[in-house]
Amino acid sequence: MSQISGARTLHRLIYTSRVSIPEAAIDHEIGSIVQTSRRNNRDVAITGLLLVHEGYFVQALEGPAEAVMSTYRRILDDPRHEKSKVLSAGPAAGREFGDWNMCARRMTAGDDAILDTLRARDRFAPESLSGAAVLRLLTAVRGIQARTRLGALG
Ligand code: FAD
Repeated sequence: MSQISGARTLHRLIYTSRVSIPEAAIDHEIGSIVQTSRRNNRDVAITGLLLVHEGYFVQALEGPAEAVMSTYRRILDDPRHEKSKVLSAGPAAGREFGDWNMCARRMTAGDDAILDTLRARDRFAPESLSGAAVLRLLTAVRGIQARTRLGALG
């Protein structure tokens, strides 16, 4: 996907939620979520990244404010997760995930260094992290995703 330039109305919303998909079905379901997201997000100029780790989803959605909020409201109704908590939401100076209308990554043992920087390796609890810390996590994951597509789910 080509880079989408940020409009003045660019917003970013970051939330976390608990996965409510059985482990055996998770790769399949995430593949399906990414496929649907790519189609829908492209249409409304939303970019972002979805991280899956230790029973949590962490997702950044960025794009025009109205599109971000209507997408998030739709996501909230999805039974594949629960206990969603917004970690940050508001205007953004530019897109951090402009190359992806959505991709997903499951963190692996090889990603421990990233979690270490957040002191989150022992107990990953994104709901207690600040929006800024979670954005750092997601941009670090974006860096890995850009360098290797290994471990990517979509
Ligand atoms: P379809 O994909 O055709 O789905 C129709 C309906 O069936 C929807 O209500 C959908 O929620 C439901 N559905 C589909 N598959 C399942 C399933 N396996 N189990 C239960 N219900 C199901 N959507 C986006 O557009 N952009 C995103 O960035 C995005 N991120 C997501 C992140 C997470 C963590 C989750 C759980 C979902 C995300 N989704 C995202 C999916 C979103 O929740 C909706 O399912 C989707 O947007 C609906 O797209 P659609 O109207 O094209 O319907």
